[in-house]
This record gives sequence, C-alpha cells and structure tokens, in this order.
Amino acid sequence: MRVLVVEDDLGVAGALAEAVRVRGHGVVHAPSGGAAIGLLGEVDLVLLDLGLPDCDGLSLLHQVRQDSAVPVIVLTARSAEGDVVRALHLGADDYLVKPVRLRELLARIDTVVRRAANVLADATVVEVEDVRVDLGARQVIVGAVDMPLTGKEFAVLASLASRVGVAVSRRQILEEVWGTASVARSKSLDVHVAALRAKLNRPGLVATVRGFGYRLGR
Ligand code: CA
Repeated sequence: MRVLVVEDDLGVAGALAEAVRVRGHGVVHAPSGGAAIGLLGEVDLVLLDLGLPDCDGLSLLHQVRQDSAVPVIVLTARSAEGDVVRALHLGADDYLVKPVRLRELLARIDTVVRRAANVLADATVVEVEDVRVDLGARQVIVGAVDMPLTGKEFAVLASLASRVGVAVSRRQILEEVWGTASVARSKSLDVHVAALRAKLNRPGLVATVRGFGYRLGR
C-alpha cells in the first residue's frame, strides 16, 4: 500500500513516514496542498495535516472528495471539535489530534484500510446462472446481452443480488430501494419485480417467497 503524507512540518512528516514504512507500506510526501493534488491518484491512503502553508486542509479534503474515495485520516493540531466534525462531514475516514502517537496511527490506518476493503467487496460482481450483476458499475448482463434497467429496477435487483440465495423480506427491499416500507410503495415493488422478471426472462430466477418477500436464485 502507498500512503501519501501531506504535512508541511518536515520533522513530523519524517516521523510519520518512518512509522508507516516500518509497517511495510510505501510513502509519498507532499509538503503542501498543491503538491498533494497531483499525487492523489497514485496512493491508497492519505494522512492529511489540516494546517498547510498554501491552503486549509479542510478545503483540500473537500476537493479530494469531489472525485476520489481514497481513505483519508486527518491529522490536526487543533483539537477544536468543530474542525473534527467538519472533517468527518467532508468525508474524512478518521482523525488524530497531534501530537500523533505512532502506534495509535498505525492501528487507525489498519482499521480504515480494512473498512475500505469491505466497501470494495460490497461493490462486487454477482453471477447467478447466466445473469451477471455488476453492483459497482450498475450493469446487468443477461446471457451475453447488456440489459438496461431503470434505476428502481436495478435497485430492487441489487437488493436481492447482494444476498444471492437468501430470502429478502418485502420490508427490507422497500426500505433499501424507497427508504420506506409504506403500503403505497408495496404495490410499486410488485410492479418493479414483474418488470425485472420480464427483462431478465429467466423464469424462477427471481423467486417469490410466499408471505415474506423475494429471493434471487433458485
Ligand atoms: Ca502543519
């Protein structure tokens, strides 16, 4: 794994880099926000100091989150709760208040990386018979044919595909797809399942579990 250390204090940056290296990771150092921007695409995790010479670390974080999900751990000398809350709202994965205890930093890095790996695992490809559901790319291939689904049809399918072979309750699907399990939406679910079945054209693949819900897979 490659870690980007964004830190203008060279003493602190050196200590962080050393600790991360000892753990077996590669390290890239950026002494400013400007230097960090060009390096983001090359790293797997970012340690971000909030007090940078050329910009506020929070605005850099905001910029990073426009197009990147790279894990970011914020390092701040400011223990002010407001900064920490803002950083988390802007999409920081974790934060540490300086002076950073290196063993704690390494433990936090491990946790953040594990969590990020789980998210990636969720955005996976599910194959059931000759139907391929790419949850990350939101793409469905039936046989060898790319099958366009509406947003809601895909969401219903994704809800089932993330638990292949398992009966998923109507309530669960409704909450995941519509954010509510209201009776009005319940009818919509049946309509979308019918449309989904017609498009997939694999009778029995989306099975009705009587009195409960639906299941993907026979
Ligand atoms: Ca600083």
